[in-house]
Amino acid sequence: MPEPLYCELCGSPISGRAYKVSVEGVSLTVCEKCYRKQSAKTREKTAQEEKQQRTQPQASTQRKPQLKAKYEVELEVVDDYAKRIKDARERLGITLLSLSQKVMEKETVLKRVEQGRLRPSIDLARRLERALGIKLLEPVVDEEKGKFESQEEDGITLGDVVNIRKK
Ligand SMILES: [Zn+2]
Repeated sequence: MPEPLYCELCGSPISGRAYKVSVEGVSLTVCEKCYRKQSAKTREKTAQEEKQQRTQPQASTQRKPQLKAKYEVELEVVDDYAKRIKDARERLGITLLSLSQKVMEKETVLKRVEQGRLRPSIDLARRLERALGIKLLEPVVDEEKGKFESQEEDGITLGDVVNIRKK
């Protein structure tokens, strides 16, 4: 006569079908009653886990304002600023002098900016953006920033190389 199976949870003999459940990683043989109880618990637990997973994206959205703030301070002037400024100014049909008055900057400075020999400061770029209706600033992407920094470490930027060759 085979040994009767006992439920490993409630201890009562299993008359009908025996069920296998996993309780905290341990596999147990249980009666149908305990199996139903246990699977209900598991569903509850899974639901809780799902809820936690759903709340995780919310946690990352809470970090977003910080990221945005970071981007707001870390702006850089686009590489083709000279072309953008010159094109916009010519499109508007205004002289360098007129533009210099609009942005309250010396004409000689703007001339050098248009020639690509002087990268405008963030502040000047903002004024030029407003005066010309163009985009000159873009957020610094970490990856690009890394590249930029490594170029600076060498003490020479790509722009410098171009300038040297011109001379
Ligand atoms: Zn049981």
